[in-house]
Amino acid sequence: MLQKSLQTSLFEWLRGGSGRQGVLQISTDEESEMELATILHSMLEDRVGRVDLVITDNRRRMVSVKRTRGRTEFRVHRMFLGCDDGVVDALVGLGVKDTASRKLIRSYVEENRDAIVEDSRDVVIRTDGEHFDLAALLVDVRQRLAESQDLQDIQITWGRKGSGKRSIRFGSYNFDLRLIRIHPSLDAAWVPKYFVEFVIYHELLHALFPPDPDAKRRVLHPPEFREREQCFERYDDAMAWEEANLKRLLR
Ligand SMILES: [Zn+2]
Repeated sequence: MLQKSLQTSLFEWLRGGSGRQGVLQISTDEESEMELATILHSMLEDRVGRVDLVITDNRRRMVSVKRTRGRTEFRVHRMFLGCDDGVVDALVGLGVKDTASRKLIRSYVEENRDAIVEDSRDVVIRTDGEHFDLAALLVDVRQRLAESQDLQDIQITWGRKGSGKRSIRFGSYNFDLRLIRIHPSLDAAWVPKYFVEFVIYHELLHALFPPDPDAKRRVLHPPEFREREQCFERYDDAMAWEEANLKRLLR
């Protein structure tokens, strides 16, 4: 964030209108962040009506929800940009002091803490694991896609072992950094190579099917995404393996 605050092109972005009822406030010079903030704003308004959303860089207080007559004010840390439906539900749940929501938000913050200061200059790429060489797998999986030419600049790395509860997210894709991260729990002898390849394939599809910024709801896995996903040679095996081993992976 430090580098960001040094940039001179910062501006306050306020918006109302265009179907939305509340105000969105974010300080950014990145269009992609604005888009994600707009999406989050819509998702919240879909759930609770009028929302004033303030995106903050407040590390001590990641989320606060205040309900006053006829509107809800959410102040959320920048790390919530791009969060999925379940997390948005939990943000809403915080407003009614729901315990499960609080838990989910806590683990989301824990998992995404690393991303707070994320800047391409800070990212450490580590592709060689004990069992799998992600760089080699990426090259191999990428060339199976007809659009491989558009994916040449994509990078891959092992993610960091998070403290606390493990997430069941085997991979993630950062649209800004064009970076795939693979969960380090997959770097194990008992994990079949085709499963790691499937996770990479899935994340590459995210690069090919970015969410529509104009969509009212952020759809991460649209039907055409799912269709392509099923084109993976060992799709059925990957699904079956995941189902059979999820518990073990979460340990
Ligand atoms: Zn996905």
